[in-house]
Amino acid sequence: MTADLKTNFIIEKIKKSRLPQADFSNLVFGRMFSDHMLIADYIDGQWQTPKIIPYQALPYEPSAKVFHYGQAIFEGMKAYKDQNGNAFLFRPEDNFERMNNSAQRLGMPAIPKEYFVNGIKELIKLDKDWIPTGNGQSLYIRPVFIATENAVAASPSASYRFIVISSPAAKYYSGDVKVKIEDKYSRACDGGVGYAKAAGNYAAQFYPTEKAKAEGFQQIIWTDSAQHKYLEEAGTMNIFFRIGDKLLTAPTVPVSTRILPGVTRRSIIQLAKDNNIDVEVRPVEVAEVIEASKNGTLQEIFGAGTAATILPIAGLKYKDYYADLPKLKDGFANKFKNMLMDIQYNRVEDPYGWRVKID
Ligand SMILES: *Cc1c(COP(=O)(O)O)cnc(C)c1O
Repeated sequence: MTADLKTNFIIEKIKKSRLPQADFSNLVFGRMFSDHMLIADYIDGQWQTPKIIPYQALPYEPSAKVFHYGQAIFEGMKAYKDQNGNAFLFRPEDNFERMNNSAQRLGMPAIPKEYFVNGIKELIKLDKDWIPTGNGQSLYIRPVFIATENAVAASPSASYRFIVISSPAAKYYSGDVKVKIEDKYSRACDGGVGYAKAAGNYAAQFYPTEKAKAEGFQQIIWTDSAQHKYLEEAGTMNIFFRIGDKLLTAPTVPVSTRILPGVTRRSIIQLAKDNNIDVEVRPVEVAEVIEASKNGTLQEIFGAGTAATILPIAGLKYKDYYADLPKLKDGFANKFKNMLMDIQYNRVEDPYGWRVKID
């Protein structure tokens, strides 16, 4: 880090916490925001003093580049509380590294680790009481990085703002989730920005996903853009397939630049290996999964991502084919979900050093 990096956060506390009005019994994902937010501005090559201030609206001119060119990236992570009220992050350095990989791809400057990892710790320390403690609840943390220069000119911005907000969260999806294998639209292509958490990737998914919803499917499983032959991932989740007792998932960077390298995915692969579950990271063909579904060897499909943790898929559509998936109580999805949550909520030893205490 450069010697002149300003690392002392200016902290302006909220005058009156909004916590007494917060109802954690009916949490809707991403709708309620905690008292404070972090902001750090990058102006003409220099990071300004980072601040933690009350959550508030931001004043931007309509010419700010983020509105025109989508030079914007984000991250998603969570803070968890254990039974004794200790708060933890899960693999925050992985999110930090991924955010800077996204920044590089979008022509944005690197965010200092002091702002990302330590800044988030400072922020969550201040908003610790916003971490809900009900079953499966957590505080969702959303870092976002945007181009703030006022100029209608398609070139990288001269100024940026790094922002972190947080939101008390319960489950991401409720009810059965059925998926459609997409064979027309694509979310990413080789050499593109699929591996980055670039804001525009998600906007591009909305239209096809709404079409799938109208057909009764909550999520799309994307296929490769060149041939629509390989299964890639869902909207904000990586995807695992269990055929027989073998777990399959597609490769991500550096093998494929189309797929987001999920921290949950990476953690599941590690847990699978350490629990003698056969896991293959390789391109997964639509044809082999449909074949397995037809011959009864397709046991499970599940999504993996921070928001949903692990999401078992209830049904699968591809062109004119549809099949319900078996409902397994002790399947891999539940096994990995419990293992992950036990580590995240400090219920077991963490041999990997994934859990990071906030103190
Ligand atoms: C964020 C994201 C994931 C999951 O990543 P995690 O680090 O596990 O939360 C998967 N796919 C896409 C497209 C994503 O944006």
